[in-house]
Amino acid sequence: MTSLADLPIRDDLRGREPYGAPQRSVRIALNVNENTHGVPDDVAQDIVAAIAEAVRTIHRYPDREFTVLRERLAGYLGHGVSADQVWAGNGSNEVIQQVLQAFGGPGRSVLGFPPTYSMHSILAAGTGTRWIDGRRDAEFELSAETVVAEIERTRPDLVFLCGPNNPTGTPLGLDVIEAAYAATDGMVFVDAAYAEFMPTDEDNALTLLPGRERLLVSRTMSKAFAFAGARVGYLAADPAVADALRLVRLPYHLSALTQAAAIAALGHADELLAGVDEIKEQRDRIVAELPGLGYSPWRSSANFVLFGGVADPARTWAELLDREVLVRNLGIPGTLRVSAGTEVETTEFLAALASLGDGAGA
Ligand SMILES: *Cc1c(COP(=O)(O)O)cnc(C)c1O
Repeated sequence: MTSLADLPIRDDLRGREPYGAPQRSVRIALNVNENTHGVPDDVAQDIVAAIAEAVRTIHRYPDREFTVLRERLAGYLGHGVSADQVWAGNGSNEVIQQVLQAFGGPGRSVLGFPPTYSMHSILAAGTGTRWIDGRRDAEFELSAETVVAEIERTRPDLVFLCGPNNPTGTPLGLDVIEAAYAATDGMVFVDAAYAEFMPTDEDNALTLLPGRERLLVSRTMSKAFAFAGARVGYLAADPAVADALRLVRLPYHLSALTQAAAIAALGHADELLAGVDEIKEQRDRIVAELPGLGYSPWRSSANFVLFGGVADPARTWAELLDREVLVRNLGIPGTLRVSAGTEVETTEFLAALASLGDGAGA
């Protein structure tokens, strides 16, 4: 037995922390923004049948170009996106990694705007891309002026925007994306993992793709689609971007089973997305009810809420866990983040928080 510190690991990885959302089995798990609605029986049966069929030819490598899946994803996205504009991976995390492998790497930099999705900087580190912290406006908002100023200050090779932003829930205006694109010659990557939870479709970044060959918009089946365990994420961009990602992807990176499961699931998009409206209602309910309990939530266009006024986040996190409610402590002082669950789960979360009484809220 040895320790990590004793191995000849890359110098730039020394002392780094891996992604580490605690995985606990609890009754009310509202910590990683999953869709808690689960998969309906008939959809599950269809997925199993599709996988069973794929197993019959599992002695062969899968379609390296995942042609049918790309067609189905393009059809789902709409907005004129064609199959050759779509690229997919084992979760959008893999897609992000491929983007950094192709357009980042040693000697290159990526500008992001913390607090944001922790995997963006972790994947930058793994690919040897220098991560630059950009500044946000008050209340975690991000204006076009601020984004442009930060791009001009830091001259990055890539700009990472996250809209709606995780962990703050902040929406991302199309004007911000347009301004970022105009301010750089580099790649502009929009992580739209929570796009389906936005109040309306009018801020859909996909509408900006025509004529912008350096713009990438990524989405995932992990959240709105209730498909986190299957690991399917994807992006839409100019077809040339897919050619770039072909240079770095592993051959046959999407298994035949993953492709079959995702294609079957997309055939039931309406059913799988049925929970989205209720989740949005529960999100809005959390935002509406937290002030009455002494906490201050930020506005959210995603399926979770970041709230402040938590005197001791580590203690409140542990006390909620004692009540079988798991939320997320991201280390942002005075805050915790909770995913909107079913109505019952949300009620239990709010009741558990209320039961902590005075002294938890500031
Ligand atoms: C959850 C999340 C993802 C999803 O990652 P997958 O690998 O597709 O499961 C991507 N981006 C952000 C900002 C997220 O919060």
